[in-house]
Amino acid sequence: MRISIIGAGYVGLVTGLCFSEMGHEVLCIENDPEKIDSLRKGRIPIFEPGIEGLLSEHVRKGRFRVEEDPREILQTEITFLCVGTPSRKNGEMDLRFLESAAVDVGGVLREKEGYHVVVVKSTVIPTTTETTIVPILEKSSGKKAGRDFGVAMNPEFLKEGSALRDFMNPDRVVIGALDERSGNCVRSLYRDFRCPIVEVSLSTAEMIKVASNAFLATKISFINEIGNICKSMGIDVRKVAEGMGYDERIGPQFLRAGCGFGGSCFPKDVSGLIAEAERRGLDPVLLRSVLKVNEVQPLKIIELLENRIKIDGKRIGVLGLSFKPDTDDIREARSRIIVGELLRKGAIVRAHDPKAIDNFRKEFPDVEYLRSAKECVEGCDAILIVTEWPEYADPSIYEERLVIDGRGVVKTNNYEGICW
Ligand code: NAD
Repeated sequence: MRISIIGAGYVGLVTGLCFSEMGHEVLCIENDPEKIDSLRKGRIPIFEPGIEGLLSEHVRKGRFRVEEDPREILQTEITFLCVGTPSRKNGEMDLRFLESAAVDVGGVLREKEGYHVVVVKSTVIPTTTETTIVPILEKSSGKKAGRDFGVAMNPEFLKEGSALRDFMNPDRVVIGALDERSGNCVRSLYRDFRCPIVEVSLSTAEMIKVASNAFLATKISFINEIGNICKSMGIDVRKVAEGMGYDERIGPQFLRAGCGFGGSCFPKDVSGLIAEAERRGLDPVLLRSVLKVNEVQPLKIIELLENRIKIDGKRIGVLGLSFKPDTDDIREARSRIIVGELLRKGAIVRAHDPKAIDNFRKEFPDVEYLRSAKECVEGCDAILIVTEWPEYADPSIYEERLVIDGRGVVKTNNYEGICW
């Protein structure tokens, strides 16, 4: 099939390149000239394992190209909207990019003669596709959804760091569709996948995505709270999580206590769900607590440090800035709260991350950035481990320095864990 993707970010690029890998012809529309320039030179503007090789291969085979002009989507049969849906200050999702992409696509559909399907892949709060995107598409195209063009909602469950594998081998594919024809068109793209295909309404698909993220975030905040209680009792929460995780009803994943979750999805999706529930007069007590635990949790590592040394004027090494390993993404990373608090308390902050330094430096120019974990550790009064990059697991780099481990990656002589 000839597929167009709006937005060449994490989701758009992975979706596009995986569809190319499956043999489809993909056109990616991006409106950031720097990203277009970089992609045309074969450089991926994000770090994601394996993706650069796929880009060069499919550009060479003529199966993947990047354009700026949305009118190019006229040459395709289906368009995936993969633009960002960040949080507003009040927690609601900001639909600015999605609405503007829908205006562009609708404008192009006005000129299109044949059938076309528009698929929302961005994460949105339930009812957004039906109540916001469909009316925009109809207005800007002058056509009727369900009759002249199709609409579907196909949420993405990939994880940064293992995005290609996740896209190609998902636990399930969820397809919400306005009508049968739209659903059939999207389903045909996934016909070789050997996983359950869940076919539902547009709003149900939207809710499956945000409820999944809210559940995973809840699991993390839950184990962090249990971890804090364990720490006060001298119990190692990691053993507790192991013992719990063998229970099939619970499962071992997302039970790693630490300094909290970050990234572009969990915090904003939970906030968006809370804002929508409140708008409907509901009181989402549990979801609010999930976020509250997550705001306080990174400060625990500072509290533990302060119990050991006076922070003002000390050199503190921070290992790990990205919100998780194998990505350069620092959106909502707990490192931002931790580094901000260290600087506020007068520390001299030295930091290392294998991939995220360039992104972090833009927001924290006053930090001293080092090229290796070993260099970062040298000359520090204490070390905080904030992201579980594998290279931080080598105990020899720390020598006798105080290490406060926020992720459970290492064990050294002078050591304290955040929840153990
Ligand atoms: P991103 O910010 O990395 O990428 C979005 C891209 O869209 C940017 O490159 C931006 O320049 C481009 N863009 C915005 N408006 C455009 C327009 N009108 N025309 C062309 N390009 C435009 O975002 P992302 O991380 O890829 O996330 C996209 C969506 O997918 C979000 O809703 C997110 O919640 C969801 N999601 C993200 C992940 C993830 O791990 N990143 C996983 C699942 C779902």
